[in-house]
Amino acid sequence: MKQNRKDFIKTSGLIIAASAAATIPSKSFAKNFIKSRGSKMKLRFKPYTLELKHVFTVAVYSRTTTPVMLTEIEYDGVVGYGEASMPQYLGESQESASAFLSKVNLEQFDDPFKMEEILSYVDSVDKNNTAAKASVDIALHDLVGKLLNQPWYKIWGYDKSKTPYTTFTIGIDTADVVRQKVKEAAEFKILKVKLGKDNDKEMIETIRSVTDVPLTADANQGWKDKHQALDMINWLNDKNVLYVEQPLPKEMIDENAWITENSPLPILGDESIQRISDLIKMKDVYSGVVIKLMKCTGMREANKMISLAKAFNKKIMLGCMTETSCAISAASQLSPMADWADLDGALLIKNDPFEGMKVIDGRVTLNDYPGIGLKS
Ligand code: MG
Repeated sequence: MKQNRKDFIKTSGLIIAASAAATIPSKSFAKNFIKSRGSKMKLRFKPYTLELKHVFTVAVYSRTTTPVMLTEIEYDGVVGYGEASMPQYLGESQESASAFLSKVNLEQFDDPFKMEEILSYVDSVDKNNTAAKASVDIALHDLVGKLLNQPWYKIWGYDKSKTPYTTFTIGIDTADVVRQKVKEAAEFKILKVKLGKDNDKEMIETIRSVTDVPLTADANQGWKDKHQALDMINWLNDKNVLYVEQPLPKEMIDENAWITENSPLPILGDESIQRISDLIKMKDVYSGVVIKLMKCTGMREANKMISLAKAFNKKIMLGCMTETSCAISAASQLSPMADWADLDGALLIKNDPFEGMKVIDGRVTLNDYPGIGLKS
């Protein structure tokens, strides 16, 4: 655990979810609280701001920071860590997460192993708030894994030798910056390219001027016409692109299905498929799904989505937001079941307070720390 993780415990920013309002307790209160041992689960949370190494631009926005909420669940002296990452365009914020988490009462449960019951309750507290819900889900998984003294990939029976390579994302930028970013990403075996603005071919050709590694493309709903989108996908197919994410706006269901039908490449639904109910609705629209903990309320539902996607014979990409190593390590526990991964979120930030899953030679590499895989 890095120093600023320890500061989490020490700071006065601790907020006790059991209290009716998101108040800030005194340091002595927090200290005594942490020392307490009991059979009730205590949820704590604290806002944190991720600082990005580079300005990040995709089809619909640019940003230099990402707000997150860090959570902890303590039970019988063991602490599980969680996180909600909330890029502004998705509609959640530190304020909304704080309001949601203040309503979550885990003290009513006396057994953290009743995960189905606990997380169904968390989901029922309010609608939406998927990242805030994920922050509780991840912390509970971390706690339970630590109580069992096993990492989740083992509890689930997954094979850590089957983890995929992760893509490294190249945002939309000028040619010089793109070339520089590609050179810095030499460790990665697959690069992910953000498309959907008016310079798509230029982006790809710029990258192809410095590397031959396979690419994946994410249009982020940025294309508007199905024929133009299909022309672009055919062109990308000749440039060693492996798949395309979310070509058209999610509302264009029939047009997205037409593209999938006619595309030489797998077409993955991302913005279209948030939760397991969306996967069922969209099963005939896309050939694959992008699963992210922040969209689907966490590891429990993500694991169910993986099982269902496999039953539907869909490709699975395990993605992320800009996140610390906390949420990234949690997602990586599922990665042996994914066809592809885009788990570079923690590599894009300057101030990661956790140490967890490491990308080694471009590959998601699982450690054997119990829970979600954070070094304590
Ligand atoms: Mg995407």
